[in-house]
Amino acid sequence: MTITKKQLENARLHRRTFAIISHPDAGKTTLTEKLLLFGGSIEVAGAVRGRKSQRTARSDWMELEKQRGISISSTVLTFTFESTHINLLDTPGHHDFSEDTYRTLMAADCAVMVIDAAKGIETQTEKLFRVCAARGIPVITFVNKIDRPGPSSLEILSQIEKEFSIEAVPVNWPVGNGPDFLGIVDIATDQMHLYDAESSDSRDTSRQRGWAEVLESNDPLSIDDSSVNLPSIGQHLQADILLHAAEEIELVKHAGLSYQRDKFLRGDQTVVFFGSALTNFGMELFLRGFIDICPPPTSPQTDEIGTSNDLPQFSGFVFKIQANLDPMHRDRVAFIRVCTGRFERDMDVTVARSGNRIRLPRALKVFGRERFTMDEAFPGDIIGVVCPGELRLGDTVFERSPVLYPGVPQFPPEVFASIRCPETSRRKQFDRGLDQLVEEGAVQLFWGTGRQRDAVLAAVGELQFDVVRFRLESEYKAPAELQKLPYTHARWYRCNDRNVSLACPYGAKLVKDFFGSPAILVQSEWDLKQLLRNNPGFSFDAIHETR
Ligand code: GDP
Repeated sequence: MTITKKQLENARLHRRTFAIISHPDAGKTTLTEKLLLFGGSIEVAGAVRGRKSQRTARSDWMELEKQRGISISSTVLTFTFESTHINLLDTPGHHDFSEDTYRTLMAADCAVMVIDAAKGIETQTEKLFRVCAARGIPVITFVNKIDRPGPSSLEILSQIEKEFSIEAVPVNWPVGNGPDFLGIVDIATDQMHLYDAESSDSRDTSRQRGWAEVLESNDPLSIDDSSVNLPSIGQHLQADILLHAAEEIELVKHAGLSYQRDKFLRGDQTVVFFGSALTNFGMELFLRGFIDICPPPTSPQTDEIGTSNDLPQFSGFVFKIQANLDPMHRDRVAFIRVCTGRFERDMDVTVARSGNRIRLPRALKVFGRERFTMDEAFPGDIIGVVCPGELRLGDTVFERSPVLYPGVPQFPPEVFASIRCPETSRRKQFDRGLDQLVEEGAVQLFWGTGRQRDAVLAAVGELQFDVVRFRLESEYKAPAELQKLPYTHARWYRCNDRNVSLACPYGAKLVKDFFGSPAILVQSEWDLKQLLRNNPGFSFDAIHETR
């Protein structure tokens, strides 16, 4: 079926592709479920929690996942809200936090940062935020669990601003919190949405009142007959809460902070929503606001896209390789983010790195463990293709005119181990397997620069080590012995002056990465600070471009 340029542009403008970044327990799963409910995917919402809990029920699941009860594969959840097609990229968290969590962000046009109102910014959120900031991915903030007691909303905003050096612009404002939580005020419309403690877990049907009216009467419920069940707190206390919220809102308005698209897209501003995913409160306001603010899919290099049959040509890049999704076939799936044009089944594309022309015959939409064949896809969509060795992490594919997307960098590893094959007779298979796993991005590999050239495996999460050991044994029949090393941080470094030598902290190790770039491994945060302070002539990167 042919489509027009206008239809293609329409498909792009009605798409949003984003990822959620958060610390475990902040409410990512609950928020995802509620968003899917808005899209009418009720069964799907159940599947989200199913994925989180133990998943030993299905026998075809990868052995390692069964053993650990965790999810190794991240997927894309799609749903439609009104006329918008939304792709939610699943960022693995908890024990399965790995480089894939970071890589998934490379395919997103925007990230939603979920913060637990009571706990504020936590470590995993911070790491993910820093990757977004480094890669220019704009961030929308959702402060969750406002039905729980916690610090004041002003404190939360100032924490975001301080930690991330970013302007935090609230879109709505909570009135009270914890047991005294009365609702939220939509700052743009000056409407108060009343929190009904008893109507949780349904679609957002919150009642609204004019904020000015509420303040005047000092009681949201006295305005008309209402079936809303506000918390039963004394009239006096309620008046205090309303007054306090009014003062805060005035303060916020006075600060003159307003949403500015260019600032937001540059990453100088984050837009903040308050809500409660569990009770579904504030979710509709959030979803509508999100659709307005999240940019539609863009291509990293729009000026070079070329045309095909008068339409922008199809192009995209591989942001993730997933092996052994289905142990029956032992295949590898490359996940491609569509950047421009329309993908059609059985399409021939060129791989920019090798120049090889390949057919994408079985494009898959992978949902959890299920796979569906896709006939077409548009900018912002994610397709999975089975690619025995043809595609590598970061590869650009295009239909006709050459384009080259920036690729996928190496992210800062946090765990390190030495690795060796105890069986001499399996060394060849071991070396081949390790090379392939590193190329695929399952793990990073560094080589010592001393005489021994010892190998150091490096990963973002421990799980990556388990995956490597498991795959070396199951796919290459090569046993591997890993021993944890005391390093905690890696930095790639550069210096233009050959006469300056690097002042290394005690216990640091100089290495080269798999692609030959020099790096240094240090043993603590303190050592890292020393390294950066004592070497002003050097530049250090936590995130490294591989080409
Ligand atoms: P994840 O680890 O980030 O995916 O977090 P979950 O969505 O699994 O939530 C962690 C816990 O917080 C669960 O017990 C949820 O029921 C609870 N939770 C999530 N959202 C809210 C909320 O808005 N209010 C309250 N009170 N609890 C919540």
